[in-house]
Amino acid sequence: MVSTGRFAPSPTGELHFGSLAAAVASFLQARSDGGRWLIRIEDIDPPREVPGSAGRILQDLLEFGLQSDLPVLYQSQRTDAYKNTISELLESGDAFWCSCSRADIPASGVYPGTCRDGLSRDKTPRSVRLKVHDMPICFNDLVQGRIEENLAETVGDFVIWRADDLPAYQLAVVVDDACQRVTEVVRGVDLLSSTARQIHLLNRMKLPVPRYAHHPLAVDAKGRKLSKRLGSDPISLLSRSEALEQVLHFLGQPCPAGLSLEDLWSWALENWRLSRIPGFEQISLDSGA
Ligand code: GLU
Repeated sequence: MVSTGRFAPSPTGELHFGSLAAAVASFLQARSDGGRWLIRIEDIDPPREVPGSAGRILQDLLEFGLQSDLPVLYQSQRTDAYKNTISELLESGDAFWCSCSRADIPASGVYPGTCRDGLSRDKTPRSVRLKVHDMPICFNDLVQGRIEENLAETVGDFVIWRADDLPAYQLAVVVDDACQRVTEVVRGVDLLSSTARQIHLLNRMKLPVPRYAHHPLAVDAKGRKLSKRLGSDPISLLSRSEALEQVLHFLGQPCPAGLSLEDLWSWALENWRLSRIPGFEQISLDSGA
């Protein structure tokens, strides 16, 4: 099977250093292996969306020379696929309607199973949760190493359809990774804690599990994650080649200094080694690059 990678930004702000790192790492991991690379806009959360941001992210990526090998997939156009999956999971008994609100969840954040065995008549169904099992889910992250998580201890049965009638990120990402036949998920380590939930969902849906690689997060000098929502680190202040050079260094790829954008890509495609990505969770950027 042809290896397929993807970059899946939420349109909640501008492309920033951290998200560019995810785009570059996923692109190089797929393309250096002769595979294809896709862009997916994860616009399933209208309350968090910043108008115009999807278009600006795509334009910025294009200016770096990053283009999807297939038409860009917009999650806002995939509601039917998500609803079908929810119906199947409810039908098979893997998922259930839940009437709990945030206030009903204990401080630990672990869902106590309140509605697992059915709702009494006086309760209103609000969200759909997936049942988890009391057993470890293990996977080998290509950067972070062997990871083991028992979802019953960390989160409990988790939401896959939200109370505000929107698909949950965990559901949408899994349905689309499967639909796009993604084989390599390369993204920031902040999503490592979602991975066991996604593997559990894939297993329940009897779908293949991709390979995962979670690169470190770029943080500012105070240790805060660089985030589009905070409007941090305007890569627009750097030239495209300077920004790509910094991202490659951040990802542990020792590219020569001062190359043009085109030469940097040639170097990177030839010399990319996932194993060089540092496995630490956070790397501070001195200059706020
Ligand atoms: N849409 C998510 C974000 O922008 C990334 C999802 C993923 O890579 O799985 O943080």
